[in-house]
Amino acid sequence: MTTTASQSQENPSSASQPSQYVFYFGDGKADGNASMKELLGGKGAGLAEMTNIGVPVPPGFTISTAVCTWFYAHGKTYPPELEAAVAENLARVEASVGRKFGDPHKPLLVSVRSGARASMPGMMDTILNLGLNDTTVQGLAESSGDERFALDSYRRFIQMYSDVVLEIDREHFEHELFALRDRVGVQSDAEIPAASLRELVETYKKIVRDKLGSEFPQDVNEQLWGAIGAVFNSWNNQRAITYRRLNGIPGDWGTAVNVQSMVFGNMGDDCATGVAFTRNPSTGEKKFYGEYLPNAQGEDVVAGIRTPMPISKTQVVGDEKSLEETFPDVYEQLVDVYKKLESHYRDMQDIEFTIQSRKLYLLQTRTGKRTGFAAVTIACDMVDEGLITSTEAVERVEANQIIQLLAPVFDAKEKEKVVKGGRVLGRALPAGPGAATGRIAFSAERAVEMAEHDPVILVRIETSPEDISGMHSAVGILTTRGGLTSHAAVVARGMGRPCVVGAGALKVDYSKGELRSEGHEPLEEGDWLSIDGTTGEIIGGKLATRPSEVVQVLLEGSMKPSESETYRNFDRLLKWADEIRTLGIRTNADTPTDARVARLFGAQGIGLCRTEHMFFAEERILKVREMILARDEAGRRKALDELLPFQRADFEGIFRELAGMPVTVRLLDPPLHEFLPHTEAQISAVARDMNWGFVELRNKVAQLHEQNPMLGHRGCRLGITYPEIYEMQVRAIFEAACDVKKSGLDVHPEIMIPLIGTVGELKITGEMVRRTADAVLKERGLKIDYLVGTMIEIPRAALVADTIGEVADFFSFGTNDLTQMTFGYSRDDAGTFLPSYIDKKILARDPFESLDQEGVGQLVRIGTERGRSAKPDLKVGVCGEHGGDPDSIRFFRACDFNYVSCSPYRVPVARLAAAQAELQQKAYEG
Ligand code: PEP
Ligand code: MG
Repeated sequence: MTTTASQSQENPSSASQPSQYVFYFGDGKADGNASMKELLGGKGAGLAEMTNIGVPVPPGFTISTAVCTWFYAHGKTYPPELEAAVAENLARVEASVGRKFGDPHKPLLVSVRSGARASMPGMMDTILNLGLNDTTVQGLAESSGDERFALDSYRRFIQMYSDVVLEIDREHFEHELFALRDRVGVQSDAEIPAASLRELVETYKKIVRDKLGSEFPQDVNEQLWGAIGAVFNSWNNQRAITYRRLNGIPGDWGTAVNVQSMVFGNMGDDCATGVAFTRNPSTGEKKFYGEYLPNAQGEDVVAGIRTPMPISKTQVVGDEKSLEETFPDVYEQLVDVYKKLESHYRDMQDIEFTIQSRKLYLLQTRTGKRTGFAAVTIACDMVDEGLITSTEAVERVEANQIIQLLAPVFDAKEKEKVVKGGRVLGRALPAGPGAATGRIAFSAERAVEMAEHDPVILVRIETSPEDISGMHSAVGILTTRGGLTSHAAVVARGMGRPCVVGAGALKVDYSKGELRSEGHEPLEEGDWLSIDGTTGEIIGGKLATRPSEVVQVLLEGSMKPSESETYRNFDRLLKWADEIRTLGIRTNADTPTDARVARLFGAQGIGLCRTEHMFFAEERILKVREMILARDEAGRRKALDELLPFQRADFEGIFRELAGMPVTVRLLDPPLHEFLPHTEAQISAVARDMNWGFVELRNKVAQLHEQNPMLGHRGCRLGITYPEIYEMQVRAIFEAACDVKKSGLDVHPEIMIPLIGTVGELKITGEMVRRTADAVLKERGLKIDYLVGTMIEIPRAALVADTIGEVADFFSFGTNDLTQMTFGYSRDDAGTFLPSYIDKKILARDPFESLDQEGVGQLVRIGTERGRSAKPDLKVGVCGEHGGDPDSIRFFRACDFNYVSCSPYRVPVARLAAAQAELQQKAYEG
């Protein structure tokens, strides 16, 4: 039934209707290859590709993700052809290694592992040493000449299989293991003698019998199918679901299952197992970087149970012994292999290897996860090395990651003080860069709870996949065990959390709730702790942070570009992005300071200046209140006249800051009640100033109360009922524009009317804007080109956009309100139910964070198309939060927007995302 590799390549649609479910790899040739990640998962595609390019890989086969899809679509059953295909491929593995599955003398043992399209470290299940039973264990002892090793493998297998497949709690087995160690009087598992292990195997089998009422399965085929089913089931375990939610991985991708002949890193002192990165995943430094454990089995390194040793001599600290020194010949071979893999994949690789009797095997290669720092450094270095083009560099860095380069670091002076003052508790492995200061939590649950009030540092001996929510809630993570590839390190890097691992000199005592370090008072839950994920320092107490190097160069000018490589790489990458993108990048800024920050980050103008924010300043709010509460138009005008100079000064500052760039100013939008006095003291102050009685004013405030303010008297409705408010604002804008223009700078005001639902609203307010603007320009004798446009944030406006487009100079989608009104979810209250909607998969993502392309997206498309049907060159942009979200940016590019507008600190993200969107759009259009 198996088709050949070339057939499956000729038929790329095989992902939906595969005729081949099982893909073999071994002996230098594989059915699959690196391009088949969707079908084979990342691990399967990597094993196939490595086999094809001549890297030593133990033979095996991959059961495709299509089987996972079938499994869930057919009540957890398999396609009828699968059994025969598995048997056929197993026979090929047997032939390749010269061992037979279930053979009493020379048994083949296999590992069964998950492997999804996107890497989900430690989230799903793995089973090793499968194929052992009471008979084959003797065969393994015979063929390896090491009975102890065979029994140790068997007891590990029973425990793993019982935990993963039979769902018997691991603790029952661990309890027996610890008791045995005590009885025999040894410290580590490696010292338990064979006879005792034999006893332990019997005890383990009894646990299974007692819990299950049946024997541990002795039939190796039953074992194999049990493991395959467990891996498919693990796709939907809670921690995998949580991980997918946090990382935006769709639930319908499914996992593949890799069945591979076992090689052993735990067969003696000439064996080892390790993981490595072809470059440093934390900093991006071009150095082979990794860890290994002698005489250990695969998962031991990643699980962080023993602190591993360095691979290269240059990594060695103290009396550690590197792989380079212990296994020089294998190290040399490993270096050849990693170089081959890196130049083949043209990207930094994360590899897993095992050394069995001094022979090297690669078990995995995948694109290495990296921090934002490393991503930018590696991309720029690889361009310099001629390995990739600058366009590929732009594609390589996840847009959201670049924000890490803007995150704070510890203030150098403050740090020097605490170092001198003896507050440094220790130094360990810097696993995720950045500075974090927070209160200690010793468990994931407490971290989640405490993070509601304060920043939290999660402190654990080691982390496991169950801790994922706590890690996400924490601002930083510290573990006392594990290396740079431990669970904590990998996950923290993925989340962009500062992280320090392997702090063996510190002791965590969960029962006492203490973190102890020599020469210091123990720290307890809630105490402040600081970690520097760039240097690995752990510091007691709170520590002030400083802006990042990029911020120091760009915004503060306190560092020169020549002093910061991070800045130089950041700048190069974004300049490459600017050469590619066609989408304009603007910013949402209401103050000259924000406008400056955004300009320095590369914004090309303001897409939204929310004028209401200018009303809240202390000296203005009283006047705003008087304006709202005035008995009549004359009273309103009086208050507005007093507000005008303030507004004019605000606009002037912004126009100066963004001279030569377009500045979109939105006229007043929020419901007036937001400005009303609420407390008795506030009401008294306004009453005094307006010469009203307290009760009279309180009654007026009550009168203005609205049942549903977000759908009430707000947006352009205010401009229609109280035109003098908009008139004052327009006058302030144009007087400021004239002042700035007169000083020799160029100004491009764009006036935006909020919350339009009908063309009539825009006609009335738009005419009023033009009349007022022209009057000011005439008074000043100046000519300034300006635009009058509207937000599209009410669904009706999108639907009648052809009529609105006739009147508007531009559209700016207010996707915050548009999402609110399309879903009918209150922006301010959705937090109470959205998490549960996401958990239950009603929604894939929070629609206020990433645009709902399926629903709200239709309105965006319709609005743009209809608007442009009336005015083909209508300028279209977005100023809702989605303007800074990479996935949404891709959608806006596909809709042919002119620009996106986002908050100042997201401008670099948007620049990069817009370039990536452009490349994808070009690829799509062919
Ligand atoms: C919007 O609704 O998307 C918008 C940008 O306006 P605001 O958030 O101020 O309502
Ligand atoms: Mg809005």
